[in-house]
Amino acid sequence: MNKQEKVYIDFEACKECGYCKTVCPKNVFAKGSSFNNKGYRAYETVSPEACIGCLRCFYACPDFAVTVNKGGAADEKSV
Ligand code: SF4
Ligand code: SF4
Repeated sequence: MNKQEKVYIDFEACKECGYCKTVCPKNVFAKGSSFNNKGYRAYETVSPEACIGCLRCFYACPDFAVTVNKGGAADEKSV
């Protein structure tokens, strides 16, 4: 089984809007407990193993803070 994390958030890029949590059908995201350098409580992944790779979070994030790996680094969807 591939234990590589499929989805992760750029802690410093997140602006706490919560769109990723809103659109995710698998409840992968939750608001974090610490503040980043911009003063936002960046969201974090609480169950990345549940990710089905639908990319809704990737397209919803206005700050390009979400990266989704669909099956490995070669297929990384990012900007
Ligand atoms: S790709 Fe889909 S299932 Fe995976 S974290 Fe993003 S919204 Fe959730
Ligand atoms: S959509 Fe992007 S900026 Fe908004 S909470 Fe999620 S990771 Fe942070």
